[in-house]
Amino acid sequence: MQHLKDSYKSEFKAEAVKVNDKEVILIITYFYPTSGGQPNDTGTITRISDNKEFKVIDVKKENNQIIHILDKEGLKENDKVKCKIDWERRYKLMRMHTTAHVISSIIHKETGAMITGNQLDTEKSRIDFSLEKFNKENIENYIKKANEEIKKDHKITISTISKEEAEKIKNLSKLAKGLPPNLKEIRIVTIGSINEQGDGGTHVNSTKEIGAIKLLSIENKGKSNRRLYFSLE
Ligand SMILES: [Zn+2]
Repeated sequence: MQHLKDSYKSEFKAEAVKVNDKEVILIITYFYPTSGGQPNDTGTITRISDNKEFKVIDVKKENNQIIHILDKEGLKENDKVKCKIDWERRYKLMRMHTTAHVISSIIHKETGAMITGNQLDTEKSRIDFSLEKFNKENIENYIKKANEEIKKDHKITISTISKEEAEKIKNLSKLAKGLPPNLKEIRIVTIGSINEQGDGGTHVNSTKEIGAIKLLSIENKGKSNRRLYFSLE
């Protein structure tokens, strides 16, 4: 789970420790597996001995292990490899992920709405939230506020705190109580003074890297379920 420590590392050396047809587990990896609304990384794994390149077409997490799915068989256990993450794709997803936290925190602060889900992607991302009274102009205004915050260049910091500490923080206590009892530590993503959230995704270092948010559409999904789509300019 090295991506949790350094989101900006896109090239690294490793060794294949387990190979099952096209599925590979590496001794160390920075590839991000699909989780928490953030899609998997793609990229390449190249065997150092003969320079044979395998494309990473999917990455998943199972039993706390990260499994890389390759485009073909042939990689062997103990093979030494060099790995490269498709940085353009990953960086877009990092910018999208931090943006989703900024928008969610503003909607929550302004309306009290609960964020019920999100799905990030490279071209457009969506946020689902629960809000009975709903007005398109208000949402446009929240996006405007989000853009103003982004321009302030808030720094993003990552920290790890114990579950007991998390339970004491107002906005995190709900999350902390809902976590599995065997989880002892929680990773906290803090965006300047505007948001603090338990999270396992990859984020940019500063909000100025985001650029500007563009509101694409808002959909009604039933009585109080709203869905917002945005892209980045
Ligand atoms: Zn997140």
